[in-house]
Amino acid sequence: MNWMQVEQYLQNDDRALLPLGSTEQHSHLRLTVDCILPERVAVEAAEPLGIPVFPVVPYGVTPYFREFPGSISLKVETHLRVVSDILDGMAHSGFRRILIVNGHGGNNAAQQFVLEWAADHPNCRVLYHNWWNAPLTWAKVQAIDPVASHGSWMENFPWTRLPGVEMPKNQREMVDLARVRAINPVELREYLGDGNFGGFYQRSDDEMLELWKIAVEETRSLLTGSWGEPA
Ligand SMILES: [Zn+2]
Repeated sequence: MNWMQVEQYLQNDDRALLPLGSTEQHSHLRLTVDCILPERVAVEAAEPLGIPVFPVVPYGVTPYFREFPGSISLKVETHLRVVSDILDGMAHSGFRRILIVNGHGGNNAAQQFVLEWAADHPNCRVLYHNWWNAPLTWAKVQAIDPVASHGSWMENFPWTRLPGVEMPKNQREMVDLARVRAINPVELREYLGDGNFGGFYQRSDDEMLELWKIAVEETRSLLTGSWGEPA
């Protein structure tokens, strides 16, 4: 959209989406999995409703993966400032209902921050949506295969895998999350090996497209639910 189109849009609606991502190891998948997925789910959810989606914030909070090359972490403080400045800018433009579609668990400080921001901007409403573990989407993951985690099949869509990269065929055992949280980044790289936290590396595209459809619909339902009334 150009700015005139946004100005025009804001005469009749005040909704927008902001995807939050992370650039970090995802086993054999792209480093940008957590950018691609929230942005795409946001776009597909919003498109039929004509609601604009802002570009994904491509960096998040992921200090634990720093020993995997290409993984870039913002400090929590930096991330919250970035999110804060973007929300301020959106509110200044005239957006009043903002759906944040988050793609990375490590960004959870932003979830707390958004409550604070919204309290200080009582004419705005902000929803924070972790698209991958929302109830219907997570139930579908569990129904397909309960052994699923970071960097496993559950993040392996036709649009997150790399051409020419062969996936291991085995089902990786779930890592010990208590240990993951306790060890330092150097030890973590050694412990994780390729970076998959548990599960097969790939499942069928039919299953993935079914999962995707649910995720898109679940995200869309937030745009038209009770929150859908203008503030
Ligand atoms: Zn991810």
